[in-house]
Amino acid sequence: LNLQKAEFIRSAASAADFPRDMLPQVVFSGRSNVGKSSVINKLLLRKNIARVGAAPGKTTHINYFLIDGKVYLVDLPGYGYAKVSMAEKARWGRLIESWFADTSLMTLGVMIVDARHKPTADDCTMGEWFKQSGKPFVVVANKLDKLKKSEIEPNMARIRETLELAENVKVIPFSAEKGDGRQELLSAILGAVGE
Ligand code: GDP
Repeated sequence: LNLQKAEFIRSAASAADFPRDMLPQVVFSGRSNVGKSSVINKLLLRKNIARVGAAPGKTTHINYFLIDGKVYLVDLPGYGYAKVSMAEKARWGRLIESWFADTSLMTLGVMIVDARHKPTADDCTMGEWFKQSGKPFVVVANKLDKLKKSEIEPNMARIRETLELAENVKVIPFSAEKGDGRQELLSAILGAVGE
């Protein structure tokens, strides 16, 4: 899979815009500011295909990228931004619900959390969406570079416990800044899409 060959396909505001051409779809989710754009850019070795520092909460669209003509990378809008209106939150909920309503679209989930913190209630809700999808998913614990060595193991354990992850769900320590974890995430993706 040639990750350098990534192109933006479309921004979907509702289910009618979701591509349904049976190509594998790898879906990325995370709180606003967790570094989702940075993780995607690091993975694809691109500077700015996913916009870093986009206005939080202003993104109730699902962005689709096509990698090497073979795999969709699906960028779900970030959640948990305090200043978002109730109406906007409801819109987010409906959009995510409609995306997960058709789990045939999903090949692998990549749920991004902050390596420093205990997952939030919103993270736990997102975790439930992934679990209920019945599809494989991994948890990426981003901003690893902000942890002391001694904090890594206990923090990873706390993430696993708080999200009540099954044993087969990987927690990947990751730094979008330094590149740690990129290879492990890449292997999980390549394994899931059969490349
Ligand atoms: P998004 O809202 O989830 O897409 O988050 P962004 O990718 O825009 O990142 C939010 C902020 O976190 C930016 O200031 C990034 O530079 C920073 N950031 C993202 N990933 C990392 C990381 O691994 N380490 C550090 N130290 N900062 C990061």
